Amino acid sequence: MSSSLILKNFGRTLIFPIDNMNQQKSFENDAPTLYIVATPIGNLSELTPRAKEVLESVDVIAAEDTRNTMKLLSHFQISTHLIAHHKFNETASSKGIIQLLQEGKDVAVVSDAGYPLISDPGSELVRLVIDAGYPVVPISGSNAMLNALVASGLSPQPFLFYGFLPSNERQRIKELQSLKHQPMTLIFYEAPHRIEKMLTNCLEVLGDRPMCLARELTKKHEEFLRGTIREVLQEAANRKGEMVVLIAGHEEDKEQDVTQAMPLLKDHIQNYISEGMSTNEAIKRVARERGLSKNEIYKEYHGLN
Ligand code: SAM
Repeated sequence: MSSSLILKNFGRTLIFPIDNMNQQKSFENDAPTLYIVATPIGNLSELTPRAKEVLESVDVIAAEDTRNTMKLLSHFQISTHLIAHHKFNETASSKGIIQLLQEGKDVAVVSDAGYPLISDPGSELVRLVIDAGYPVVPISGSNAMLNALVASGLSPQPFLFYGFLPSNERQRIKELQSLKHQPMTLIFYEAPHRIEKMLTNCLEVLGDRPMCLARELTKKHEEFLRGTIREVLQEAANRKGEMVVLIAGHEEDKEQDVTQAMPLLKDHIQNYISEGMSTNEAIKRVARERGLSKNEIYKEYHGLN
């Protein structure tokens, strides 16, 4: 009978089979290895000497976009063979990479910027390589959310890194509602063309909390907008470039957060009421326009959440 180790983590039960436990001593083996190499998020000087050394010494580099990585490699005069490893070929290419490891080759995986796997491809590959019994070694470097977090002025821990919220507004609002009571700093990646809508949804659902918009990190136009969501929203619409959104976690004794955001939704409903609709008709109309359920809007409007 196999035994297992049971751990509770954030309310989830994690069961690790002890019999299949995997131990890796990264600096005490010479097995073919998969290196997870972080690359610069803008400023090329942030490629570490160790990352450069690994990219030069491995047999193959698996890149999210070979043309992008080619530019990085040419800059550092590295001529290692490149193969494609992106979200559309992750399963097939992972099998190919395991084959390379079986042939005794070392492989590095890189994404377009920062850490592979962090809102980038690579997690399936790592799982498969661990299952196949080969070492997976991280090579440190730049990462957008950590750079943003340490300079944001918000509480650095605990934090919750979400990555990209869904592009569909209804799903985005639903996700934000599920995060609304989290007491930790919330970190999101967002594209500039969606930032205004995204922050509007944050204001409506989370309330007017302190936040920071960190833009173009490590690049010439690096900028931090620190303020409340409402203040940053007024500025964000005309900002371009790469962005990280950080929002303070929920504070029990600051319930006015929710009521401060409510006028947006309340105004929307009141507007229809002032045009002659009944409250229920107005709620129904607002729910349809916002792609939300009538029930959700009813609860928000009447403060039943
Ligand atoms: N793997 C990367 C990492 O470790 O940070 C993230 C890749 S994800 C596909 C790209 C998103 O990361 C961008 O849309 C933006 O939200 C954020 N990002 C990447 N580089 C950034 C930068 N220089 N400044 C601000 N945000 C950045």
